[in-house]
Amino acid sequence: MTTHHIVARHEWWTNHEDNLLRIPEKPHQSLHILFETRLIAEKLIRTLEIEKKALRPEVVNRLMDTLTEHDPRDLSFWYKDTTHF
Ligand SMILES: [Zn+2]
Repeated sequence: MTTHHIVARHEWWTNHEDNLLRIPEKPHQSLHILFETRLIAEKLIRTLEIEKKALRPEVVNRLMDTLTEHDPRDLSFWYKDTTHF
């Protein structure tokens, strides 16, 4: 088993338990190959791009509008306030 940081340490959170995920090594490697250290909106956009061919265009458009409505790097919009940790 390995420890994954849900939000990359340098982006926002540290080693607080809410930010850690225990996963086996292989899926952990796959996760990083697919998503690197991307933030949530970027991960979801990547997922949407991967699954785009199977989805109705209006669904893709609607999801993409929602995901691009806010700046992915505006951490205070996307993530819980963890400054008290
Ligand atoms: Zn990781």
